[in-house]
Amino acid sequence: MGSDVSDHATAPVGRFAPSPTGPLHQGSVVAAVASYLDARARRGRWLLRIDDLDPPREVAGAADLIVETLRALGLEWDGEIVYQSRRGAAYAEALAVLEAAGATFPCGCTRAMVGSGPYPGTCRNGLPRGRRARSLRVRVDARVIGFDDRVQGRYAQRLDTECGDFIVRRADGLVAYHLAVVVDDAAAGVTDVVRGVDLIASTPRQLHLQRLLGLPRPGYAHIDVVRDARGVKLSKQSGAPAVLPAEAPAALHAALAFLGLAPPPEALGAPVRELLDWALPRWALRVPVAADG
Ligand code: GLU
Repeated sequence: MGSDVSDHATAPVGRFAPSPTGPLHQGSVVAAVASYLDARARRGRWLLRIDDLDPPREVAGAADLIVETLRALGLEWDGEIVYQSRRGAAYAEALAVLEAAGATFPCGCTRAMVGSGPYPGTCRNGLPRGRRARSLRVRVDARVIGFDDRVQGRYAQRLDTECGDFIVRRADGLVAYHLAVVVDDAAAGVTDVVRGVDLIASTPRQLHLQRLLGLPRPGYAHIDVVRDARGVKLSKQSGAPAVLPAEAPAALHAALAFLGLAPPPEALGAPVRELLDWALPRWALRVPVAADG
């Protein structure tokens, strides 16, 4: 393994990767705008991927609505949209690499058997008698996996004590999010992952998979998430209202304000392209102020 820094030194490639579990809400608009500005302010490419990996969680029509809203926000992506639902062959190849390296094992545990703590290693050295294989897990070890986040600073985990061997192919046969994300980001040449801080705890698992698969490591910036008046992160589950295409200019103005760019009030209602052009030269990732000042 090399150092803890990103493997990339070339023109940036960013991406936005929404899951079509519902329309965009203000929190996802902020993530989209941040990753867009971060790539475009450095004359980089910006890609769009629809993470439709999990048909049971998908909402009919959400992917198309997300695409329409991004267009209305003026966030133009490069190239074709990538759909994870069409990337099965690449995931199968990555799973085969992990299996051939002896990095995985079949697991016969149900979710209830594992509970909420780290995976206890039940099937690590072979399926217990009478159990049949359900999922496929990747082995983790005792090393500390850390990285320097451009917003949050140093972040590290020991996977063995914090999550244990984790699932890369689910019992229903679907590929796990962590595997799909690292395979897709590498295939697209993504150099900079900008996403909500709610995903930071999954990054060490993704770094572990990158190392096992010999994939380059992108840089990471986990931005603060938008919260509602109760302090709860905006999400579909928290009942966050949808941002529909017609609301794009106001949503963009609010997203820029959240990201610390303070667009002038009179810019409310300005065409989205004008707002983005105003924001690009002013873009900087905002590092949160520590509680102790
Ligand atoms: N599709 C994931 C989500 O919407 C995000 C993936 C990522 O940014 O790495 O939560």
